[in-house]
Amino acid sequence: MTEEVKTTDNLNKNICSKCSKEVPEAEKKMYEGDDGKTPICICDECANKIKEEYEMATKDVNIFKCLLFGITASFITGLIWYWIAVATHTMYDIVVIGLGFIIAIACSMGAGNKKGWKVQLIAILLTLLTIIYAEGIFAHNAVSPEPVFSGGILKSIAELIVLPLFAITSLGFIGSLFSMIALYVAFAVTKKEELKLIK
Ligand SMILES: [Zn+2]
Repeated sequence: MTEEVKTTDNLNKNICSKCSKEVPEAEKKMYEGDDGKTPICICDECANKIKEEYEMATKDVNIFKCLLFGITASFITGLIWYWIAVATHTMYDIVVIGLGFIIAIACSMGAGNKKGWKVQLIAILLTLLTIIYAEGIFAHNAVSPEPVFSGGILKSIAELIVLPLFAITSLGFIGSLFSMIALYVAFAVTKKEELKLIK
């Protein structure tokens, strides 16, 4: 009930929620609010500024630093997840959602507080690789007497190829489901922001 009153109240206001300027009824445009529910009034001038900011946030992406920050976050979160698994003898798959979130934030920060498809691609790939290799190494070491990457370069390269198979078998349905949520989180966090016009 309160929600409804608030919405109607907001809809009737012809005041830009950004600069508080009054907008003539004919020029009034409502956009989706920050909470994704309550519509807010934004004047054309402010709307254009916001759109430009969102556009700028996808330009001049620092790919090198995006990768550097992202890979660092991958290693740290992957290792923490792995250590928890070793200490508790359980791979807590729900952790991957946090892992995807942290990696995506790191990629975005490294890129220069950027978003958009380039950052998204790197964040999703790194999240996927982290899940596959952390899970794969844990599953491998659980069944093999010899720890992974301990038998020379050639054997290590072969293990790099085999580990994803260990991961897939070990993840199972629930693990795969959490992994997909993690990939979606990485996608959503780095997605280009958009101003959604309601009417
Ligand atoms: Zn305004």
